[in-house]
Amino acid sequence: MSRVLGVWVEVEIKEYDEDLNFWDVIAWRETMIPDEDSVDAYISDVEASLSESQKRGKVYTNTLVRCSCGEEIICRKFTNECDECGELYNKYGQHLNPREEWEDEY
Ligand SMILES: [Zn+2]
Repeated sequence: MSRVLGVWVEVEIKEYDEDLNFWDVIAWRETMIPDEDSVDAYISDVEASLSESQKRGKVYTNTLVRCSCGEEIICRKFTNECDECGELYNKYGQHLNPREEWEDEY
């Protein structure tokens, strides 16, 4: 059985480059948050840990799924395929039938 593990959160960290007068992306903080309600608190914690020359950039949140084969899949797209076994999941981590069983749309 596949199951949703939680929310995969990616936070872009930027640092100001004085020479270039430019906010450069220096790192990503990535983690899995089992409880969706705790995502905002995590982002706040990341912001609090930054130095004065750094700031938070983009934040991406996606569903993290454990496939029936054991592989973990970050569901970034409308349709996400397991690299190991080819099982399909939608953006919300719901398991989809194989493509060949899909009805033609419209
Ligand atoms: Zn799989």
